[in-house]
Order: sequence, then C-alpha cells, then structure tokens
Amino acid sequence: MSYFLLTMKHAIFGVVFLFILSMNINAQTAEEFAAAWDKQHVTNILPSNVRHKDLQVYLGNLKKLGIKVEEVGRSYANREIYQVEWGKGKTKVFMWSQMHGDEPTATSGLIDMFTFLQNNRDKIGWVKTLENSITLRAVPMLNPDGAELFQRRNLQGIDINRDARNLQTPEGRLLKKLRDEWKPEIGFNLHNQNPLTTVGKTPKQAAISLLAVSGSPKGESYPGHERNKRISSLMIAALNKYIPGHIGRYDDEYNPRAFGDRISEWGTPVILIETGALHGKDEMYLVKMNFIANLIALQSIVDGSEKRADPKVYENTPFNDSGELYHYVFRKANIVNYAESAESFVGDVAINKERRRAEIAAPTFVQEIGDLSIYSGLEEFDASDFYLVPKNGLLKIGSGGEFLFYKKSRKIDWKAKDLEKQFVPDAVFSNGKWTKGAALFKIKN
Ligand SMILES: [Zn+2]
Repeated sequence: MSYFLLTMKHAIFGVVFLFILSMNINAQTAEEFAAAWDKQHVTNILPSNVRHKDLQVYLGNLKKLGIKVEEVGRSYANREIYQVEWGKGKTKVFMWSQMHGDEPTATSGLIDMFTFLQNNRDKIGWVKTLENSITLRAVPMLNPDGAELFQRRNLQGIDINRDARNLQTPEGRLLKKLRDEWKPEIGFNLHNQNPLTTVGKTPKQAAISLLAVSGSPKGESYPGHERNKRISSLMIAALNKYIPGHIGRYDDEYNPRAFGDRISEWGTPVILIETGALHGKDEMYLVKMNFIANLIALQSIVDGSEKRADPKVYENTPFNDSGELYHYVFRKANIVNYAESAESFVGDVAINKERRRAEIAAPTFVQEIGDLSIYSGLEEFDASDFYLVPKNGLLKIGSGGEFLFYKKSRKIDWKAKDLEKQFVPDAVFSNGKWTKGAALFKIKN
C-alpha cells in the first residue's frame, strides 16, 4: 500500500474518530440520566397521591426557575389546565399526560424533566443544543377532574381518549386545539396501564410499554412513524439497563375515537408511553424510568442519533398480554367453605388488588379459583399443608380476599360457632397482607 493511501486512511480514520468522540462528549447515557434523576429530581409525592393543587405547587416551582407555564384551558369542573413550554428552537415537540385521571406517573416525570432541562442548559452541551433546536410544550394532567377523583374518565363520565371524534369534553377539545394551532412534529401521549399487564406470555410485568402510533386506518407506515419506531428503539435500549424483560409493545390497532391515532393522522406522529408497575419497586422508580425515556428521546432528536437507530429493537419487542398474572396466588390450598360444607377440596386461589392511590390500602378480591397452574402470581404461597378458610364462610369470585389458615394436621370443628375464636387460626391473610403467621408461608417469587 502506498504511503499516500495509508495517510488517506489515517486521515479518514481520524475524522471518523473525532466525530465519534464529539458525539460521546455531548451525548448522555441512560446511566447518567438515572444518576441525574437520583440527585436532581424535585417531585416528592408518590404520583398517585398528587392532586391538582400539588401540580400547581410543582408548576409554581418551574415558573420560579424561569420556565414558561400558562393556563391554556379549564376542565369540565372549571379546574385550570396548564401548558409548560421550554426551548426556543424550530422542532416542535408536544407531550401530554394524565388524560386518564388515574394514570399519573408521567405527570411527575414531566416535572422532573423540565427541571433538569432548565437547570442544565448552561452546564450540559446537548441540553444547550436542545434548547436552541427544539421547542417543547407539555400539558401535564390534561384531566384534572379525573385526577382529583382518581378515576379514568372526566367529570362527564366520558373517556377523553374516546372523544377525539365527537369532541364533547372540554379537555378533548383543548388537546385538539393545542395540536391544531401549533402543528408539532412529534407527540408523546403519556399513560399508565394495568399493573398486571405482562410482556407477551411471560409472567413478567410490563413496567413500560411503547407504541409508535401509525394513525393510519390501514396500518400504513410513513417517515414520521418510522422515526418514532427508531426513537422507541433507543428508549427500549436505555430502559433495558434498568428493567430488562419488563418492556412491552402496546397493541397497535387503529381506533378512530382515540387521540393517539387521530393526532398521528392529523400530522403529529405520536409515541405512546404506558407505564405499568414493577413488583418491589415504588411509583418513583417508574417516574425515573419515564425521565430516562423522555430524555433519551429528546437527545436522539437533537443529536440526530435516532437516524442511526435500529427500528428492529422496537419491532422485536413482544406485545403486551393480560390475564396471565395475578397479584397473589395460593397454591394447592385445602379450601373449606364452612358455611356450606365441612368437606375440603383442593384448589389454587388468586387474589387481585384494585387500583387506588398509594395512600389508600387497596381492597383485594378473589379473582379466580381452581387449577391455575398455567398462571403466575406476583407473590405465590404454597398452601398445600393448610386449610384455606374464607372469613365469610364461602369462597366466591369477587368477594374480599380475607382468609384464615389452619394447619392441615389440626382437628377443627367447621360447624363451631364463632370459628375464629374457638379455633384460633395459624395464619391470617387480609387485604394483601399477612396479619398473622407470615413466617409459615415462604414467598415463592
Ligand atoms: Zn390511559
């Protein structure tokens, strides 16, 4: 090889090397975002406990940092709905959270994101570039009336996310107006999904699920949709460092009444982020996951790295599934319906928890009875050496999850009056907790 060619090779290598180096200097990793959230997050209430007035405190703090916050509309019950704006660049990015009142995680994620961006715009290179190249608008808590009641729907009883065509809710009309007047290039539709949603047929909870919404009735793709798949791939790769196996893909069936679909169709391709739950981790951990995902997405738009991302990471992520997972499963219990019979029969019993604010003890209820061997529980207990006795005497789907447990070796007169007093149980499980005898039951997973 000639000296000239060698030099050329070195020169090209040098340019490429410098290019990669400059990218690395600017780009932040998922780990850095996670560390930044640990040190710098400002939300301090579990998202499900956040009321409209708490949001107003958060937004007041954003204002004090110099971020633009304005009231853009009112809810059906006349509560203020706000829009936060940051950045002064050309690319328009629009985010909205909590159009379902009981889906709060992303609202806190947005507050932490804006705080981070504002506080670091003179400290971190890519944040400065972001400030100059995008304008970010977000509506945190689009449905404040639903949030106040911790219910999905607005105060009219309408699911705002099924009102994109009829526009009978003030909140839905506002969302459409904010989109139509501004025409952003990308939208982020931020929700929560059922905590028992699984990743495919695995027993793993889908802690975060993503959907690059097509918005085409025929499911056709187009450049904005392809871009959103690539961005989703980067979010998945980042989240995989923290919640591997717990990331799903949301069902992508077109719904003409849903805002995610229609906003995509109207010209703002949407990425849907659904936060689920992760057993053993609290809601704040999922705020952190939202924070990482949001910043990875924004960074990839501003530094162009989304263009090099592989959409297959997203396309190969399993779809969400449901109905395979319960909160608690008691295996092979000897069930005694003492109100009906003194005979026992063997069965698995599954209990689920209702969705409530964190500050409220969520009621539990019997979800399934019988052979549940093909399903899983977030917590499973081997009850084969015990009688499982429903407190009210008859195990019934939908009834409260309150059980007495007696060692099978004991002789119990099931017809005894005031059973619990005459025969003191070895263990008691009530509303998702062992109030007695926890040590007798080893958690299986
Ligand atoms: Zn939702």
